[in-house]
Amino acid sequence: MQQEFQHIVKFIRELYKQTEGFIPLHAPVFNGNEKKYLNDCIDSTFVSSVGKYVDLFEERMAEYTGAKKTIACVNGTNALHIALKLVGVEPKTEVITQALTFIATVNAIKYCDADPVFIDVDKDTLGLSPESLKNWLAENVDVTKSQPQLQPQSQPQSQSQPQSQPHNKKTGRRISACVPMHTFGHPCRIDEIMEICNQYHIPVIEDAAESLGSFYKNQHTGTFGEIGVLSFNGNKILTTGGGGMLLFKDEKLAQKAKHLTTQAKVPHLWKFVHDEIGYNYRMPNINAALGLAQLEQLPQFLESKRNIAKKYDDFFSSSALASTLSLIFITEPNNAKSNYWLNTVILKDKTERDAFLKYTNEQGVMTRPAWTLINKLEMFKSCQCENLSNSEWLEERIVNLPSSVRI
Ligand SMILES: *Cc1c(COP(=O)(O)O)cnc(C)c1O
Repeated sequence: MQQEFQHIVKFIRELYKQTEGFIPLHAPVFNGNEKKYLNDCIDSTFVSSVGKYVDLFEERMAEYTGAKKTIACVNGTNALHIALKLVGVEPKTEVITQALTFIATVNAIKYCDADPVFIDVDKDTLGLSPESLKNWLAENVDVTKSQPQLQPQSQPQSQSQPQSQPHNKKTGRRISACVPMHTFGHPCRIDEIMEICNQYHIPVIEDAAESLGSFYKNQHTGTFGEIGVLSFNGNKILTTGGGGMLLFKDEKLAQKAKHLTTQAKVPHLWKFVHDEIGYNYRMPNINAALGLAQLEQLPQFLESKRNIAKKYDDFFSSSALASTLSLIFITEPNNAKSNYWLNTVILKDKTERDAFLKYTNEQGVMTRPAWTLINKLEMFKSCQCENLSNSEWLEERIVNLPSSVRI
Protein backbone atom coordinates (compact mmCIF):
# COMPACT_ATOMS: atom_id res chain seq x y z
CA MET A 1 0.00 0.00 0.00
CA GLN A 2 2.80 2.37 1.02
CA GLN A 3 4.26 2.07 -2.47
CA GLU A 4 1.00 3.05 -4.16
CA PHE A 5 0.53 5.99 -1.80
CA GLN A 6 4.08 7.12 -2.55
CA HIS A 7 3.29 6.99 -6.22
CA ILE A 8 0.22 9.22 -5.73
CA VAL A 9 2.15 11.77 -3.66
CA LYS A 10 4.82 11.89 -6.38
CA PHE A 11 2.13 12.51 -8.99
CA ILE A 12 0.56 15.36 -6.97
CA ARG A 13 3.97 16.97 -6.40
CA GLU A 14 4.65 16.87 -10.15
CA LEU A 15 1.17 18.22 -10.90
CA TYR A 16 1.79 21.24 -8.70
CA LYS A 17 5.48 21.46 -9.70
CA GLN A 18 6.44 21.42 -6.05
CA THR A 19 9.05 18.84 -5.12
CA GLU A 20 9.01 19.84 -1.46
CA GLY A 21 7.05 21.89 1.04
CA PHE A 22 3.37 21.91 1.88
CA ILE A 23 0.74 21.51 -0.83
CA PRO A 24 -2.62 22.86 0.41
CA LEU A 25 -6.02 21.46 -0.49
CA HIS A 26 -7.23 24.66 -2.09
CA ALA A 27 -5.37 27.98 -2.15
CA PRO A 28 -6.82 31.11 -3.77
CA VAL A 29 -5.16 32.66 -6.82
CA PHE A 30 -5.00 36.45 -7.25
CA ASN A 31 -3.77 37.00 -10.74
CA GLY A 32 -6.00 39.71 -12.19
CA ASN A 33 -7.33 43.12 -11.24
CA GLU A 34 -7.58 42.42 -7.49
CA LYS A 35 -5.07 45.05 -6.35
CA LYS A 36 -6.30 47.59 -8.86
CA TYR A 37 -9.92 47.32 -7.74
CA LEU A 38 -8.99 47.20 -4.06
CA ASN A 39 -6.90 50.36 -4.41
CA ASP A 40 -9.69 52.06 -6.27
CA CYS A 41 -12.16 50.98 -3.60
CA ILE A 42 -9.97 52.37 -0.80
CA ASP A 43 -9.33 55.62 -2.70
CA SER A 44 -13.09 56.06 -3.11
CA THR A 45 -13.54 55.71 0.71
CA PHE A 46 -16.59 53.53 -0.03
CA VAL A 47 -15.23 50.38 1.56
CA SER A 48 -18.31 49.39 3.50
CA SER A 49 -21.89 48.40 2.78
CA VAL A 50 -22.53 50.79 -0.10
CA GLY A 51 -20.54 51.16 -3.31
CA LYS A 52 -20.30 50.45 -7.00
CA TYR A 53 -18.41 47.17 -6.64
CA VAL A 54 -21.29 45.49 -4.83
CA ASP A 55 -23.65 46.47 -7.66
CA LEU A 56 -21.17 45.44 -10.34
CA PHE A 57 -20.38 42.15 -8.67
CA GLU A 58 -24.08 41.35 -8.36
CA GLU A 59 -24.80 42.30 -11.98
CA ARG A 60 -21.92 40.29 -13.40
CA MET A 61 -22.82 37.28 -11.29
CA ALA A 62 -26.43 37.47 -12.51
CA GLU A 63 -25.17 37.57 -16.12
CA TYR A 64 -22.86 34.62 -15.54
CA THR A 65 -25.32 32.36 -13.72
CA GLY A 66 -28.43 33.43 -15.60
CA ALA A 67 -30.18 34.32 -12.34
CA LYS A 68 -32.79 37.06 -12.74
CA LYS A 69 -31.42 38.91 -9.71
CA THR A 70 -28.60 38.41 -7.21
CA ILE A 71 -28.03 39.78 -3.70
CA ALA A 72 -24.53 39.73 -2.18
CA CYS A 73 -24.17 38.75 1.48
CA VAL A 74 -21.46 38.68 4.14
CA ASN A 75 -21.05 34.92 3.77
CA GLY A 76 -22.74 31.81 2.41
CA THR A 77 -24.09 30.71 5.78
CA ASN A 78 -26.13 33.86 6.33
CA ALA A 79 -27.21 33.83 2.69
CA LEU A 80 -28.70 30.39 3.44
CA HIS A 81 -30.36 31.77 6.56
CA ILE A 82 -32.04 34.56 4.59
CA ALA A 83 -33.04 32.20 1.77
CA LEU A 84 -34.78 29.86 4.21
CA LYS A 85 -36.58 32.74 5.92
CA LEU A 86 -37.76 34.09 2.57
CA VAL A 87 -39.47 30.85 1.53
CA GLY A 88 -41.25 30.60 4.86
CA VAL A 89 -39.07 28.38 7.05
CA GLU A 90 -40.46 29.09 10.52
CA PRO A 91 -40.00 27.70 14.04
CA LYS A 92 -41.29 24.14 14.53
CA THR A 93 -41.30 23.31 10.83
CA GLU A 94 -39.10 20.70 9.12
CA VAL A 95 -36.51 21.11 6.37
CA ILE A 96 -35.31 18.17 4.30
CA THR A 97 -31.60 18.05 3.53
CA GLN A 98 -28.68 15.66 3.12
CA ALA A 99 -26.61 14.33 6.03
CA LEU A 100 -23.47 14.45 3.89
CA THR A 101 -22.90 18.20 3.82
CA PHE A 102 -20.96 21.00 5.46
CA ILE A 103 -22.37 22.06 8.83
CA ALA A 104 -23.43 25.50 7.51
CA THR A 105 -26.33 23.98 5.54
CA VAL A 106 -27.87 22.62 8.71
CA ASN A 107 -26.91 25.45 11.06
CA ALA A 108 -28.85 27.83 8.81
CA ILE A 109 -31.94 25.63 9.29
CA LYS A 110 -31.50 25.81 13.06
CA TYR A 111 -31.10 29.63 12.91
CA CYS A 112 -34.76 29.56 11.77
CA ASP A 113 -35.63 27.29 14.75
CA ALA A 114 -36.64 24.62 12.25
CA ASP A 115 -35.49 20.99 12.38
CA PRO A 116 -33.56 19.17 9.68
CA VAL A 117 -34.66 15.82 8.28
CA PHE A 118 -31.72 13.89 6.85
CA ILE A 119 -32.05 11.85 3.70
CA ASP A 120 -29.50 9.95 1.63
CA VAL A 121 -27.24 11.01 -1.24
CA ASP A 122 -26.48 9.26 -4.53
CA LYS A 123 -23.13 7.50 -4.83
CA ASP A 124 -22.35 9.02 -8.23
CA THR A 125 -23.34 12.66 -7.67
CA LEU A 126 -22.63 12.72 -3.88
CA GLY A 127 -25.70 14.98 -3.71
CA LEU A 128 -29.28 14.57 -2.47
CA SER A 129 -30.89 11.43 -3.86
CA PRO A 130 -34.27 11.87 -5.60
CA GLU A 131 -35.06 8.22 -4.70
CA SER A 132 -34.40 8.74 -1.02
CA LEU A 133 -36.42 11.96 -1.13
CA LYS A 134 -39.34 10.24 -2.84
CA ASN A 135 -39.30 7.35 -0.37
CA TRP A 136 -39.24 9.57 2.68
CA LEU A 137 -41.99 11.81 1.37
CA ALA A 138 -44.22 8.88 0.34
CA GLU A 139 -43.92 7.35 3.77
CA ASN A 140 -44.13 10.45 5.91
CA VAL A 141 -45.78 13.36 4.15
CA ASP A 142 -49.35 14.30 3.36
CA VAL A 143 -50.35 17.30 1.33
CA THR A 144 -53.42 18.86 2.84
CA LYS A 145 -55.48 21.40 0.98
CA SER A 146 -57.15 24.05 3.04
CA GLN A 147 -60.50 24.65 1.32
CA PRO A 148 -61.21 28.01 -0.27
CA GLN A 149 -63.49 30.34 1.68
CA LEU A 150 -67.24 29.95 1.08
CA GLN A 151 -67.82 33.61 0.33
CA PRO A 152 -66.08 33.93 -3.04
CA GLN A 153 -67.74 37.28 -3.81
CA SER A 154 -66.16 38.99 -0.84
CA GLN A 155 -62.73 37.48 -1.53
CA PRO A 156 -60.36 38.57 -4.25
CA GLN A 157 -59.86 35.71 -6.77
CA SER A 158 -56.25 35.07 -5.87
CA GLN A 159 -57.01 34.48 -2.19
CA SER A 160 -59.73 31.92 -2.82
CA GLN A 161 -57.21 29.41 -4.22
CA PRO A 162 -56.84 26.38 -1.95
CA GLN A 163 -53.47 26.36 -0.24
CA SER A 164 -51.49 23.14 -0.44
CA GLN A 165 -49.47 22.42 2.66
CA PRO A 166 -47.14 19.45 3.08
CA HIS A 167 -47.26 17.96 6.58
CA ASN A 168 -45.27 15.27 8.33
CA LYS A 169 -47.88 12.66 9.34
CA LYS A 170 -45.85 11.52 12.37
CA THR A 171 -44.85 14.86 13.88
CA GLY A 172 -47.72 16.94 12.55
CA ARG A 173 -45.25 19.59 11.48
CA ARG A 174 -45.18 21.48 8.21
CA ILE A 175 -42.39 20.68 5.72
CA SER A 176 -41.17 24.18 4.92
CA ALA A 177 -38.27 23.57 2.51
CA CYS A 178 -35.84 21.14 0.92
CA VAL A 179 -32.12 21.98 0.66
CA PRO A 180 -30.11 19.85 -1.77
CA MET A 181 -26.37 20.53 -1.97
CA HIS A 182 -24.03 20.20 -4.97
CA THR A 183 -21.24 18.32 -3.24
CA PHE A 184 -17.65 19.35 -4.08
CA GLY A 185 -19.04 21.13 -7.15
CA HIS A 186 -20.72 18.08 -8.73
CA PRO A 187 -24.35 18.84 -9.62
CA CYS A 188 -26.96 16.61 -7.99
CA ARG A 189 -30.10 15.43 -9.89
CA ILE A 190 -31.68 18.79 -9.39
CA ASP A 191 -34.37 18.50 -12.11
CA GLU A 192 -35.81 15.34 -10.55
CA ILE A 193 -35.60 16.89 -7.08
CA MET A 194 -37.48 19.95 -8.34
CA GLU A 195 -40.19 17.78 -9.86
CA ILE A 196 -40.72 15.81 -6.66
CA CYS A 197 -40.72 18.91 -4.47
CA ASN A 198 -43.19 20.64 -6.80
CA GLN A 199 -45.56 17.70 -6.46
CA TYR A 200 -45.46 18.11 -2.70
CA HIS A 201 -45.48 21.94 -2.80
CA ILE A 202 -42.12 22.13 -1.02
CA PRO A 203 -39.90 25.11 -1.89
CA VAL A 204 -36.31 24.24 -2.85
CA ILE A 205 -33.27 26.19 -1.69
CA GLU A 206 -30.17 25.03 -3.56
CA ASP A 207 -26.98 25.08 -1.54
CA ALA A 208 -24.68 25.86 -4.45
CA ALA A 209 -21.93 27.15 -2.14
CA GLU A 210 -19.41 24.80 -3.75
CA SER A 211 -20.68 24.80 -7.32
CA LEU A 212 -20.10 28.21 -8.90
CA GLY A 213 -19.30 27.37 -12.52
CA SER A 214 -21.15 24.02 -12.45
CA PHE A 215 -24.04 23.42 -14.82
CA TYR A 216 -26.77 20.80 -14.99
CA LYS A 217 -28.28 20.32 -18.45
CA ASN A 218 -26.66 23.62 -19.45
CA GLN A 219 -28.33 25.54 -16.62
CA HIS A 220 -26.25 26.96 -13.79
CA THR A 221 -26.58 25.24 -10.42
CA GLY A 222 -28.42 27.43 -7.93
CA THR A 223 -30.91 28.69 -10.54
CA PHE A 224 -33.30 25.70 -10.41
CA GLY A 225 -34.69 26.20 -6.91
CA GLU A 226 -36.71 29.16 -5.61
CA ILE A 227 -33.41 30.55 -4.35
CA GLY A 228 -29.80 29.44 -4.78
CA VAL A 229 -26.87 30.22 -2.51
CA LEU A 230 -23.19 30.70 -3.39
CA SER A 231 -20.19 31.07 -1.08
CA PHE A 232 -16.99 33.03 -1.69
CA ASN A 233 -15.10 31.82 1.35
CA GLY A 234 -11.28 31.63 1.01
CA ASN A 235 -11.32 27.95 0.04
CA LYS A 236 -14.02 28.15 -2.64
CA ILE A 237 -13.38 28.38 -6.41
CA LEU A 238 -13.60 32.15 -6.21
CA THR A 239 -13.12 34.24 -3.08
CA THR A 240 -14.10 37.64 -1.72
CA GLY A 241 -12.27 36.93 1.57
CA GLY A 242 -15.62 36.08 3.05
CA GLY A 243 -18.85 36.36 1.14
CA GLY A 244 -21.93 34.76 -0.27
CA MET A 245 -24.69 35.41 -2.76
CA LEU A 246 -28.38 34.74 -3.20
CA LEU A 247 -29.59 33.81 -6.69
CA PHE A 248 -33.22 34.62 -7.51
CA LYS A 249 -35.66 34.00 -10.30
CA ASP A 250 -38.23 36.26 -8.60
CA GLU A 251 -37.36 39.96 -8.40
CA LYS A 252 -39.82 40.66 -5.61
CA LEU A 253 -38.19 38.04 -3.43
CA ALA A 254 -34.79 39.58 -4.23
CA GLN A 255 -36.10 42.97 -3.11
CA LYS A 256 -37.16 41.42 0.17
CA ALA A 257 -33.71 39.85 0.56
CA LYS A 258 -32.03 43.20 0.08
CA HIS A 259 -34.33 44.72 2.69
CA LEU A 260 -33.72 41.94 5.22
CA THR A 261 -29.94 41.99 4.74
CA THR A 262 -29.74 45.75 5.31
CA GLN A 263 -31.38 45.90 8.78
CA ALA A 264 -34.85 46.22 7.19
CA LYS A 265 -34.36 49.95 6.90
CA VAL A 266 -37.09 51.79 5.03
CA PRO A 267 -35.38 53.87 2.35
CA HIS A 268 -35.52 57.55 3.27
CA LEU A 269 -33.24 60.54 2.75
CA TRP A 270 -32.69 61.10 6.48
CA LYS A 271 -35.16 59.15 8.62
CA PHE A 272 -34.25 55.93 10.42
CA VAL A 273 -37.25 53.66 10.31
CA HIS A 274 -37.08 49.85 10.30
CA ASP A 275 -40.22 47.88 9.57
CA GLU A 276 -39.20 44.41 10.81
CA ILE A 277 -36.29 42.57 12.47
CA GLY A 278 -33.54 42.75 9.88
CA TYR A 279 -29.94 41.63 9.64
CA ASN A 280 -26.58 43.21 8.91
CA TYR A 281 -25.77 40.69 6.20
CA ARG A 282 -24.88 42.93 3.26
CA MET A 283 -21.50 42.34 1.58
CA PRO A 284 -19.05 45.25 2.04
CA ASN A 285 -17.82 47.02 -1.09
CA ILE A 286 -14.20 46.05 -0.42
CA ASN A 287 -15.06 42.35 -0.56
CA ALA A 288 -17.06 42.88 -3.74
CA ALA A 289 -14.05 44.64 -5.33
CA LEU A 290 -12.01 41.52 -4.72
CA GLY A 291 -14.89 39.38 -5.99
CA LEU A 292 -15.30 41.29 -9.22
CA ALA A 293 -11.62 40.84 -10.05
CA GLN A 294 -11.91 37.13 -9.23
CA LEU A 295 -15.04 36.70 -11.32
CA GLU A 296 -13.22 38.09 -14.36
CA GLN A 297 -10.84 35.13 -14.03
CA LEU A 298 -13.49 32.47 -13.49
CA PRO A 299 -13.28 31.06 -17.05
CA GLN A 300 -9.51 30.51 -16.63
CA PHE A 301 -10.02 29.04 -13.17
CA LEU A 302 -12.58 26.60 -14.54
CA GLU A 303 -10.35 25.61 -17.42
CA SER A 304 -7.46 24.98 -15.06
CA LYS A 305 -9.64 22.91 -12.76
CA ARG A 306 -10.97 20.73 -15.59
CA ASN A 307 -7.41 20.23 -16.71
CA ILE A 308 -6.33 19.16 -13.20
CA ALA A 309 -9.30 16.80 -12.92
CA LYS A 310 -8.46 15.26 -16.29
CA LYS A 311 -4.86 14.71 -15.18
CA TYR A 312 -6.02 13.00 -11.99
CA ASP A 313 -8.51 10.91 -13.95
CA ASP A 314 -5.90 9.85 -16.52
CA PHE A 315 -3.40 9.06 -13.79
CA PHE A 316 -5.80 6.94 -11.78
CA SER A 317 -7.24 5.12 -14.75
CA SER A 318 -3.93 4.36 -16.47
CA SER A 319 -1.76 3.34 -13.57
CA ALA A 320 -2.16 -0.14 -12.11
CA LEU A 321 -2.25 1.30 -8.63
CA ALA A 322 -5.91 2.31 -8.86
CA SER A 323 -6.93 -1.30 -9.35
CA THR A 324 -4.52 -2.48 -6.66
CA LEU A 325 -6.16 -0.01 -4.32
CA SER A 326 -9.62 -0.43 -5.89
CA LEU A 327 -9.78 3.33 -5.89
CA ILE A 328 -12.44 5.36 -7.72
CA PHE A 329 -11.88 8.90 -8.98
CA ILE A 330 -15.16 10.86 -9.02
CA THR A 331 -15.92 12.42 -12.39
CA GLU A 332 -18.76 14.76 -13.33
CA PRO A 333 -22.18 13.04 -13.29
CA ASN A 334 -24.32 12.51 -16.42
CA ASN A 335 -25.92 15.67 -17.83
CA ALA A 336 -23.59 17.78 -15.75
CA LYS A 337 -20.63 20.03 -16.25
CA SER A 338 -18.76 20.25 -12.97
CA ASN A 339 -16.42 22.96 -11.70
CA TYR A 340 -14.32 20.21 -10.07
CA TRP A 341 -13.95 22.39 -7.00
CA LEU A 342 -12.46 19.59 -4.90
CA ASN A 343 -11.16 16.48 -6.61
CA THR A 344 -12.35 13.37 -4.85
CA VAL A 345 -11.38 9.73 -4.65
CA ILE A 346 -13.17 6.83 -2.99
CA LEU A 347 -10.85 4.43 -1.18
CA LYS A 348 -11.58 0.74 -0.60
CA ASP A 349 -12.56 1.05 3.05
CA LYS A 350 -12.07 3.14 6.18
CA THR A 351 -8.78 1.47 7.11
CA GLU A 352 -7.25 2.21 3.74
CA ARG A 353 -8.67 5.72 3.77
CA ASP A 354 -7.14 6.47 7.17
CA ALA A 355 -3.78 5.08 6.08
CA PHE A 356 -3.92 7.26 2.96
CA LEU A 357 -4.88 10.39 4.92
CA LYS A 358 -2.08 9.77 7.40
CA TYR A 359 0.56 9.13 4.76
CA THR A 360 -0.28 12.05 2.50
CA ASN A 361 -0.61 14.60 5.31
CA GLU A 362 2.69 13.43 6.84
CA GLN A 363 4.25 13.98 3.43
CA GLY A 364 3.02 17.58 3.37
CA VAL A 365 0.33 16.89 0.76
CA MET A 366 -2.93 18.02 2.25
CA THR A 367 -5.87 15.66 1.88
CA ARG A 368 -9.01 15.40 3.94
CA PRO A 369 -11.93 13.10 4.59
CA ALA A 370 -15.60 13.93 4.02
CA TRP A 371 -17.45 15.75 6.79
CA THR A 372 -18.74 13.67 9.67
CA LEU A 373 -22.38 12.99 8.76
CA ILE A 374 -24.41 15.76 10.40
CA ASN A 375 -26.87 13.32 12.02
CA LYS A 376 -23.94 11.92 14.04
CA LEU A 377 -23.06 15.27 15.60
CA GLU A 378 -24.22 15.78 19.18
CA MET A 379 -26.64 18.63 18.35
CA PHE A 380 -28.41 16.67 15.60
CA LYS A 381 -28.45 13.14 17.01
CA SER A 382 -32.19 13.12 17.66
CA CYS A 383 -33.21 14.35 14.19
CA GLN A 384 -35.29 12.27 11.78
CA CYS A 385 -33.37 10.26 9.18
CA GLU A 386 -34.21 8.24 6.11
CA ASN A 387 -31.96 5.23 5.39
CA LEU A 388 -28.46 6.77 4.99
CA SER A 389 -26.53 3.78 3.66
CA ASN A 390 -24.91 5.64 0.74
CA SER A 391 -23.95 8.57 2.96
CA GLU A 392 -22.40 6.18 5.49
CA TRP A 393 -20.56 4.25 2.80
CA LEU A 394 -19.16 7.49 1.31
CA GLU A 395 -18.32 9.04 4.68
CA GLU A 396 -15.89 6.20 5.38
CA ARG A 397 -14.19 6.29 2.00
CA ILE A 398 -14.07 9.81 0.54
CA VAL A 399 -10.78 11.69 0.33
CA ASN A 400 -10.38 15.15 -1.20
CA LEU A 401 -7.13 15.78 -3.09
CA PRO A 402 -5.24 19.06 -3.63
CA SER A 403 -7.25 21.03 -6.19
CA SER A 404 -5.93 24.61 -6.31
CA VAL A 405 -6.06 26.41 -9.63
CA ARG A 406 -2.66 26.28 -11.37
CA ILE A 407 -1.50 29.49 -13.02
C1 LIG B 1 -18.79 26.87 2.19
C2 LIG B 1 -20.12 26.32 2.36
C3 LIG B 1 -21.19 27.02 2.95
C4 LIG B 1 -21.10 28.33 3.64
O1 LIG B 1 -20.25 29.21 3.22
P1 LIG B 1 -19.55 30.36 4.10
O2 LIG B 1 -19.38 31.42 3.08
O3 LIG B 1 -18.27 29.79 4.59
O4 LIG B 1 -20.45 30.78 5.19
C5 LIG B 1 -22.44 26.44 2.95
N1 LIG B 1 -22.65 25.22 2.47
C6 LIG B 1 -21.66 24.49 1.93
C7 LIG B 1 -21.98 23.15 1.39
C8 LIG B 1 -20.36 25.00 1.87
O5 LIG B 1 -19.39 24.24 1.35
